Amino acid sequence: MNIQEKTPMSYVFTPPAITALPVRGSDALFPVRRVYCVGRNYAAHAIEMGGDPDKEPPFFFQKNPDNLVPGDGSFPYPSGTSDVHHEIELVAFLSKGGENIPVGKALDHVFGYAVGLDMTRRDLQAEAKKLGRPWEVGKAFEHSAPCGEVVPAAEIGHPQSGAIWLKVNGNMVQEGDLNQLIWKVPGTIAYLSGLFRLAPGDAIMTGTPSGVGPVKRGDVLEGHIDGVGDLKVTVA
Ligand code: MN
Repeated sequence: MNIQEKTPMSYVFTPPAITALPVRGSDALFPVRRVYCVGRNYAAHAIEMGGDPDKEPPFFFQKNPDNLVPGDGSFPYPSGTSDVHHEIELVAFLSKGGENIPVGKALDHVFGYAVGLDMTRRDLQAEAKKLGRPWEVGKAFEHSAPCGEVVPAAEIGHPQSGAIWLKVNGNMVQEGDLNQLIWKVPGTIAYLSGLFRLAPGDAIMTGTPSGVGPVKRGDVLEGHIDGVGDLKVTVA
């Protein structure tokens, strides 16, 4: 029997809950399908990671949907690492999918935006890079993507400039402007949709400005993006 022809009356165990984030001004939640992440998307960060911002097309990795956790809580220091870094990022959330989406229509697919953190086990990522291995152990671990509430584009439009920063214990450590994104949101969506079939519920973490660095237990991370909002996370 083709599996599609078999309508399950029940599951052999309770299906896992879907990841969902609060939406500003709404009681409805935003259900998450996939989490795509752009690497090295601000020139200064590309340089600090040893890249050349003028020569690189965008590249992507994924986190697991359940790595995305509502922010303003605690980030449990993960296992297997002694060098966890913060990466403050603008996150775009899609409510329409598609393949080969034209740049000029890409923003029609965006439901809204949030302030997120791409927490990274930098030591494990560095080892993976050195050995030519996948990045999952460095990037796609539990609680690795604390995220603020989703703010509808219907409310704030599509931010193309404005400050993006992160303070650790009150000290400014990452500071940039959305206008420094190498691959803007429309171009990122267009490029990504040539590689994957995008769908409602997909999230895109758009990359981090320079100034990434390690966190330790007890640190308080405060992130901000002009026009989008704030995110506060304590390392536990
Ligand atoms: Mn990142």
